Amino acid sequence: MVDLRSTKPAVDLRSDTVTRPSAGMRQAMASAEVGDDVFADDPTVNALEARVAGLFGHEAALFAPSGSMANQIALQLVTPRAGELLAGADAHVVTYELGAAGAIGGISTRTWPAVGASLDVGQIASMIRPQGYPSLPTRAIAVEQTHNLGGGTVIPLATLRTLREISDKSGLLMHCDGARIWHAHVADGVPLHEYGALFDTLSVCLSKGLGAPVGSLVVGSAARIAEARVIRKRMGGGMRQVGILAAAGDYALTHNVSRLAEDHARARRLAEALSKFNVVNPEEVRTNLVPIDLTGTSIDAPTLAAEAAKRDVHVAAMLPHLVRVVFHLDVDDNGLDQATTVLTEILDQSR
Ligand SMILES: *Cc1c(COP(=O)(O)O)cnc(C)c1O
Repeated sequence: MVDLRSTKPAVDLRSDTVTRPSAGMRQAMASAEVGDDVFADDPTVNALEARVAGLFGHEAALFAPSGSMANQIALQLVTPRAGELLAGADAHVVTYELGAAGAIGGISTRTWPAVGASLDVGQIASMIRPQGYPSLPTRAIAVEQTHNLGGGTVIPLATLRTLREISDKSGLLMHCDGARIWHAHVADGVPLHEYGALFDTLSVCLSKGLGAPVGSLVVGSAARIAEARVIRKRMGGGMRQVGILAAAGDYALTHNVSRLAEDHARARRLAEALSKFNVVNPEEVRTNLVPIDLTGTSIDAPTLAAEAAKRDVHVAAMLPHLVRVVFHLDVDDNGLDQATTVLTEILDQSR
């Protein structure tokens, strides 16, 4: 028997990391000038680092093989060994980097409860412990913009400014996990340098929504990035003729930032279509992620993901009750329609 559904191309909404380099991006990669980047001799890498540093109004930046490595390098820059870092309980640096802060950086993390969209600045302030003996002093704070498990939510600039004032009073440094900071910039119209001004270090990712195959950067002062270069090498992240990858990142920055608005609009349209099932609030869908909370339905996240996959729509089961749908540059309106149809039918049967 012929299964007609199998002739439809699959729609992959598990993550925005699943994108494939476009023809134009591959062209840019093929023609990139390269050198040995461990010697800082790769002109394409150097140009990308200068470009990204400039975007955030910082002195320097360093190319890294993954967002996790960029974050972990930055955490070592802002938190001394055995120092305490405050972060959200479901932050990527705590949850999805597999204990690297402790295992590699010797950093002690203490977390504030996951509160989804919002950031309770008062609560964070109350957690800061003073410098000096005998309690472990807090040294730095890490926030995530946009917030992945929060559903792609954007922390308002005013909230970040208040947090910065509090950190300054206590002499703390601040890191931003900006894997999707491009999405916050497009959603809120906040210039990247405004974000840059609030943080001592940032990590930004080229291989998420921007569509490059590999690459993240750590951004900071010249002195910190010089130290970052040493830490990167120590962690095995020194790469050689990596201008081939930096060229993809440069292409992504030129072509794929403003178009993120399309992904945000598609995410909102899906959320609106599914809102009748009370599984998502479309007002809270500001960027490319759609969190589907199945509490109160008769289906769980792994089952929904498996059912949708049978019909060529791939979504991620993040928690037993939470599915994440992610829009990106390889999903067009046809993909949105297919996802809407399939998810609507599954949820209709699960009320
Ligand atoms: C994806 C992601 C990263 C980086 O992940 P890698 O897979 O290591 O590149 C960091 N922070 C957040 C919030 C992310 O979503």
